[in-house]
Amino acid sequence: MKCQTPLNLGFCDQASCFSFAGLPMCFECSKDLTRDQQTTLVALPPYVGMPCTIQYYSDAHPATVIYVSAGTSKIVVREDHAKRTDNNGMSDCQQYEFSPNPEGQEHTFFKSKTPPVTADEALIYGQRGKSCILGIRRAYYDYSY
Ligand SMILES: [Zn+2]
Repeated sequence: MKCQTPLNLGFCDQASCFSFAGLPMCFECSKDLTRDQQTTLVALPPYVGMPCTIQYYSDAHPATVIYVSAGTSKIVVREDHAKRTDNNGMSDCQQYEFSPNPEGQEHTFFKSKTPPVTADEALIYGQRGKSCILGIRRAYYDYSY
């Protein structure tokens, strides 16, 4: 499900995680909306192949959804490869390149029992401490711990 937002003239190739005015929209494009428009965003249910990020305290690891239960209350995600591409060393400024890893570790997450208030919240599975953020792939290693 690729982003089809009219805002970027159809050149966006990112996987979508929202629906805006009935069209799939990616996380990045949703940032270009006005505040009023953002309130109309609807989170897409997780789907196989959807990019995501495992957030483990302050560390972030990129992953991909590989299983979604009927009713979407349970998902399984697999860690992707994250290759550091900057030369900043033990810095907060980190850049990564992602690629699929068929042998990546798998993690199971459950939908929160508390109903989400915003579309952003609906994209978070799991709990504080270890959660999964759907729709965006991110890597970050916290050197301060
Ligand atoms: Zn987009």
